[in-house]
Amino acid sequence: MGERGLGEFEIIDLFRERGSFRHSWVQQGIGDDCAVLDMGGGRSLLVTTDLVVERVHYLRDVITPWQLGWKAMAVSISDIAAMGGTPRAAFAAAALEPGVDQAFLEALRDGMLACAERYGVDLLGGDTSRSPQDGVLCVTLLGTAASDQVVRRSGAQPGDVAFLGGPVGLSAAGLWALTEGREASERMDPEHRQALLRAHLEPQPQVALGRWLAERGLATAMMDVSDGVLQDLGHICQASGVGALVAGEALPVDRALVQAGALGCCKEPWRFALSGGEDYVLLFTASSDRQDEIVAGARHELGIELIPFAWIEPDPGLRIFGSDGIHNARPRGWDHFG
Ligand code: ADP
Ligand code: MG
Repeated sequence: MGERGLGEFEIIDLFRERGSFRHSWVQQGIGDDCAVLDMGGGRSLLVTTDLVVERVHYLRDVITPWQLGWKAMAVSISDIAAMGGTPRAAFAAAALEPGVDQAFLEALRDGMLACAERYGVDLLGGDTSRSPQDGVLCVTLLGTAASDQVVRRSGAQPGDVAFLGGPVGLSAAGLWALTEGREASERMDPEHRQALLRAHLEPQPQVALGRWLAERGLATAMMDVSDGVLQDLGHICQASGVGALVAGEALPVDRALVQAGALGCCKEPWRFALSGGEDYVLLFTASSDRQDEIVAGARHELGIELIPFAWIEPDPGLRIFGSDGIHNARPRGWDHFG
């Protein structure tokens, strides 16, 4: 170990079991958005768990307890969506500072349950503890899928196109609008500012899109964008043994983000959009032959405007296409220990 400690993904690698699993029901272990377990009868159980830590994932002053509950539930549901599954049951563990008041707890519960209800999830258990200082929430989600429809990170192939399920960078701009950009963002169109805040505080996992793609066998690889598009596309490429050419400046950028950029959120909105985190939109690859069918289908059947943004290539690594040519991209994004 050098003077810099291990990165988040190096730490995860330490926990990854080598060799075979003790139980034959394991279809997917560490390394994808969910573990996949064989339930028999051609069905699989999907399992994921996510932490939400005060001062790391949220600041008490800028998120309401209702929104915190919603978000803690939503980020785990998003990992079920990322496999093409249906979320079913949740377990919620909370460590809270002593003396936390009842109104806070009720709002937290209501936000969590509102999200659970929206996505058809039952809250079935959890754990509660005192925390000496900061709050910590952990939601574990169980989902189901037909075994042969589970979409992993590892199936991208040269010739595929990579799509985003919606605009990215809004959540990161929402965090700006809540913190250092608080005053500047007051000058935004109210509906644009609202779009940024909502993306950050009340993410909407794309369960319907994930299922739609999975049921039709359209996606070759999929994950949800939590750490930033470039970094997460890097994960898909690494798992699939391929690389990608990313549309840089040509990436369509949401007007709310353009406006935030003009007010000081970022210099280059397209670059910001590719590296901001916590978007919780789906990132998937599909054969370029089916691009038109997929874009039209999502538009007409789901009302979703997909964004094709990269091309899968045989050479590993990410390259970004800009006005001045093609450059190698270092996948940038969120690393808790970076
Ligand atoms: P996601 O952002 O989709 O939740 P992560 O990047 O957090 O995924 O994790 C990547 C993979 O590593 C997942 O399969 C996750 O279950 C696994 N993982 C993360 N932390 C640990 C840990 N401490 N022990 C075992 N597995 C872990
Ligand atoms: Mg994920």
